[in-house]
Amino acid sequence: MKSSLYPTQELRRRALAWAVKLRVNPKVIRVQEMRRKWGSCSSAGTVTLASDLVDQDPRFQDFVIAHEMLHLRVPTHGRLFKALMSAHVPGWRELEDLRGTSRPTRGGAGGQ
Ligand SMILES: [Zn+2]
Repeated sequence: MKSSLYPTQELRRRALAWAVKLRVNPKVIRVQEMRRKWGSCSSAGTVTLASDLVDQDPRFQDFVIAHEMLHLRVPTHGRLFKALMSAHVPGWRELEDLRGTSRPTRGGAGGQ
């Protein structure tokens, strides 16, 4: 059962909470249909999340959201990025596997 009549609103609210937690300031948080990825982050500060994330496990939602939000601070997937992921989303490596296999192409939450 859905916790809200407006699950995408819920997702945006979750994303905003993450922005505060990670001290990042996305210009726009967008929820829209995405076929190949769960999320993306543009250098202009727009974070886009796949609308079907609302049907996923909340832990997975957090993983995708945190991943994209962290890109506002760290653009690459280097050591710092991974350290921050570990700090905020314990167990994210497992979730990353899930991310890759549940979509037709790899690169999941953003590719970048
Ligand atoms: Zn990424």
